[in-house]
Amino acid sequence: MRRTLIAGNWKMHGQMNSIRELMSGISEQLQSDWRCEVLVCPPAVYISTVKQLIGDKTVSLGAQNVSEQVQGAFTGEVSADMLTDIGCQYVLVGHSERRSLYGESDELVADKFAAALKAGLKPVLCIGETLEQRENGTTMNVVKQQIDAVINLLGIDGLAKGVIAYEPVWAIGTGVTASPEQAQEVHAAIREHLKQSCTSAAQNTQILYGGSMKAANAEQLLAQPDIDGGLIGGASLKADEFIAICKVAG
Ligand code: PEP
Repeated sequence: MRRTLIAGNWKMHGQMNSIRELMSGISEQLQSDWRCEVLVCPPAVYISTVKQLIGDKTVSLGAQNVSEQVQGAFTGEVSADMLTDIGCQYVLVGHSERRSLYGESDELVADKFAAALKAGLKPVLCIGETLEQRENGTTMNVVKQQIDAVINLLGIDGLAKGVIAYEPVWAIGTGVTASPEQAQEVHAAIREHLKQSCTSAAQNTQILYGGSMKAANAEQLLAQPDIDGGLIGGASLKADEFIAICKVAG
């Protein structure tokens, strides 16, 4: 049985006051009987502040990026061990903004995935096609290639230690959500692809949907059999909206 994971990606938003306000707003409304796991991924410099604000509440903590390197002269980078050290349990790797704006290749993303696992973090592998790729009919080729970069490096068992987030690039930050049917179709195909390497990995790996998910569309998306949660950008910056999605997840 796969547990639902609702993850907020705060991207490069907020400052100390608004970050405190957002986290307090989330903490106050959390309910201990929810079955879903709630994860927040603040900007790196505020992770420790958010950790303090979480206190004894059950909210998981993640970073938005990590270096593939272990340590050394890599100015500006943050290592996986550092993230573990300050209390992170998760890290996003290969978010489409990192791939498109910072030129992260499938191989680099796989190295980051490996570095995260080695440090005891759970990597969330973000994958997804552009609008052009969808229109060309190459969606599944693209997402399989992104997944296979990790399988080639770490095997299916390595991949299965993380989480996959299917985020169609055309749906991220655009207000255009994939329909539940469109999302389910790709999620099912991803699971089928994993099954070709290992049935239990396919059954147990959480596959999140990301791309303009909000309270108003979460119920239908989360009702799909192969959608195990959401990676939420814009809507995670409003405590009430984020909490409303968590409530839908139950
Ligand atoms: C994201 O950045 O991962 C994301 C899904 O953003 P949004 O929810 O704003 O589309």
